[in-house]
Amino acid sequence: MLRVLLTLAGHHYELRQFHFHAPSENTIEGHSYPMEAHLVHADKEGNLAVVAVMFKQGKANPTLEKIWREMPKKMLQEKHLPQSVNAMGLLPKDKTYYRFNGSLTTPPCSEGVTWLVMKHYITASKAQIEAFERTVGVPNNRPVQPINARVILK
Ligand SMILES: [Zn+2]
Repeated sequence: MLRVLLTLAGHHYELRQFHFHAPSENTIEGHSYPMEAHLVHADKEGNLAVVAVMFKQGKANPTLEKIWREMPKKMLQEKHLPQSVNAMGLLPKDKTYYRFNGSLTTPPCSEGVTWLVMKHYITASKAQIEAFERTVGVPNNRPVQPINARVILK
């Protein structure tokens, strides 16, 4: 099995799952995006770190192309990918991020989640974004939370 590790201040997290929201849940400097990926990582104690990546409409994303072939037909359904997918294909080249502490936006809403929101977006084609929106049916984001409860490290 492919192990994807994330290290934050000497602390190791492993990639557990990823999922998508449309439109984006987070905003970057007031901008929302048509789609957002959440790469959910956990450490040995179960502490979570979520890497959030925004998608803008543009060139098709080849990694997304592979993932979409296995897309669950309904919201909140989980699926195991038959072949490994390189999660690096869901990250921008420039990996600078905003970091803040918050909670998960989908149940269970556990506290103590470290969020790493990538400052740079990646692209997905119109068809890729629409394919996801069709599956989701209704927007699955939720209202943007007030930012004052969070500490942002730049
Ligand atoms: Zn999410």
